[in-house]
Amino acid sequence: MATSTVMELKEEVPLWIGDQPVITSTTRTISIPYDGTPVATVCEADESALERAVAAAEEGAKAMAALTLYERAEILDRMRALLARDAEEFARLIASESGKPIREARTEVDRGQQTLLASADAARGLHGEVVPMDAGPAGKGRWGITVREPLGIVAAITPFNFPLNLGLHKIGPALAAGNSVIHKPSENTPLTALRFASLTHEAGLPRGAYNVVTGDGEKVGDWLVRNDRLAMITFTGSIPVGEQIRAHAGLRRVTLELGNNSSLIVEPDADLDFIVPRAVTGSFAHSGQVCVSVQNIYLHEVIAGEFIRRFVEGARALKIGHPLDDSTEVSSMIDVDQARRVEQWINEARGAGARVLAGGVRRGATIEPTVLDDVLPHLPISCQEAFGPVVSLHRYTHLEDAIERVNSGNYGLQVGLCTQNLQTAFRAARALHYGGVIVNDVPAYRADHMPYGGARHSGIGREGPRYAIEEMTELKLICWRA
Ligand code: NAP
Repeated sequence: MATSTVMELKEEVPLWIGDQPVITSTTRTISIPYDGTPVATVCEADESALERAVAAAEEGAKAMAALTLYERAEILDRMRALLARDAEEFARLIASESGKPIREARTEVDRGQQTLLASADAARGLHGEVVPMDAGPAGKGRWGITVREPLGIVAAITPFNFPLNLGLHKIGPALAAGNSVIHKPSENTPLTALRFASLTHEAGLPRGAYNVVTGDGEKVGDWLVRNDRLAMITFTGSIPVGEQIRAHAGLRRVTLELGNNSSLIVEPDADLDFIVPRAVTGSFAHSGQVCVSVQNIYLHEVIAGEFIRRFVEGARALKIGHPLDDSTEVSSMIDVDQARRVEQWINEARGAGARVLAGGVRRGATIEPTVLDDVLPHLPISCQEAFGPVVSLHRYTHLEDAIERVNSGNYGLQVGLCTQNLQTAFRAARALHYGGVIVNDVPAYRADHMPYGGARHSGIGREGPRYAIEEMTELKLICWRA
């Protein structure tokens, strides 16, 4: 087992502004959530650093807008190659600061490369269209075309659970569109973004096009959100913070990728050999701290017994351990407070009659993979976002009832549905009010180029570089009389 971390504590890790490291007087120590081992000390942005970042990003935005689509794509391609070169270093950094098992951190780095690839493709494919002006009576003798122009500075505010790839889902399309970026990563996981900054330098990104300011969300994040010189805020995180950002952003553009409470529906003809192991992974990967992690499973009564037997067996077999140990499948939550919250929700469900079929125990920031049966649907562990390694099981007789229950509440990011019946699949997919319906797999499925985002309270706008680039550009019509 190799569990050494990747950064030395000797030096403070600086912010990255205007293509340069910037030291500030306030610092924060980043530790491995699993056991509290310090990883590095990182600088936090003060007001002067933030002002400096905005000034640098203004210059960066001009430089990016002046690049051709080809040049932007080439830079993104170089970033992808450099990320592939340094993949293991990034994986160890992600595992250390977020507590994600190293196997999953490696997958995140692979996915990050896909996000950069799709961003380069989005740059190359960015285009407008010819508008048939003479399709209406006022258009006779006129021509119209649309072009997509950059917005300026994009503020990217990201959560702790995917420190690399969720940042790249904003940085990649923003740069592809010709914008500059000020990135505010989670105060718990700033090291990956700061390491990525050095890679943008190596890739030849213009000065000021990517800037990283770290620190507390309520201070640094809020400062960015309220600053009118920033043209857009693209945020991934919780619903309450998303609501605040929208309230403070005024008329500026906002994309919100928010929380969810993901369900999986399993029909009697589902392929259990495929879906049970997928459901185990989709429920307990990164201790359930994935926005589309399986939280509720709706089982048709015919297969419920068999599914539960296999699923519980799978949950119990997962190996808990240090995030840098290659054999670890489940490590810890981001901190003890979050683990205590989940423990309290489990105990509340237990007190109301739920049966614990697996797990249910907390040690420090780690919660054992937990499976609950007979959970009352109005309890937080079932109806709010658990964001922890806990799954509630429910049974149904008629698919319509399961759909109705899954559609109740305010969340609407992704949902999974398993059936071999084409007609059932289409009917159900149309009836489910979600941004994405994943047929014959878990809701946690995501390919990085696909459109991704929430219906209802789970968000506004879509990610996936081809879709995000539309949110990050201004559509301009040029109409002239010939
Ligand atoms: P969070 O607490 O909402 O924080 C997200 C980011 O917002 C962090 O960088 C945070 O900074 C910052 N922030 C906090 N308060 C702010 C404010 N008043 N103004 C501006 N920024 C502020 O979320 P989290 O706990 O890191 O992540 C978990 C949540 O993210 C879950 O709800 C999950 O579902 C959601 N999520 C959604 C998706 C998706 O694609 N839909 C993907 C992943 C995660 P600090 O952390 O430094 O305070």
